[in-house]
Amino acid sequence: MGEIFSSRRRIFLLIFHTEVDILPYMEEKPVTNSAGRKVLARLARLGPFLPATLTVTHSRCGNPRCRCVREGPIHETALLTWKEEGKTHTLHVPCELRQEVAHWIGEWRRLKKLIEAMAAAQRQFLQTRKQSTRKSSRPS
Ligand SMILES: [Zn+2]
Repeated sequence: MGEIFSSRRRIFLLIFHTEVDILPYMEEKPVTNSAGRKVLARLARLGPFLPATLTVTHSRCGNPRCRCVREGPIHETALLTWKEEGKTHTLHVPCELRQEVAHWIGEWRRLKKLIEAMAAAQRQFLQTRKQSTRKSSRPS
C-alpha cells in the first residue's frame, strides 16, 4: 500500500515539474505565426516519404517460350526512378509493394508543399517582426 502511494506521489511530482518546466517556454517570443504552426503540426503527422517517381511500363520477360515473344511487351513492370548526384537510378518495385511505395512518394509531395508553405509563413513572420521592432525602437 505504501509503495503504491509513493509511486503515485512520484507521478504527481513528475507532472508538476513538467508543467513548471514548460511555463518559461510558453512565455518566450513567438518563433512563427499561426500559418507556420499549422505547417509544423502537419509535418509532425507526415509518414515515411520517398523522393522518386514510380512508372508503370510493359516489358518482355526474356523467356523465349513466353507468349510475350509473339504478343510483345505484355508484362506490367513498376520502376522506381530517382536521381543521386546527377545520375538517374532505377529499382524494380514488386506488384504487392506498389501501393505502399506510391504512398511514400505522395508523402514526399506533401512534404515539398509544406516546405513551401513554411517558407511563406516565415517570410510573412519576418515582415511582421520587422514592423513591430521598428515601432518599438521609434522614439516617442
Ligand atoms: Zn514474357
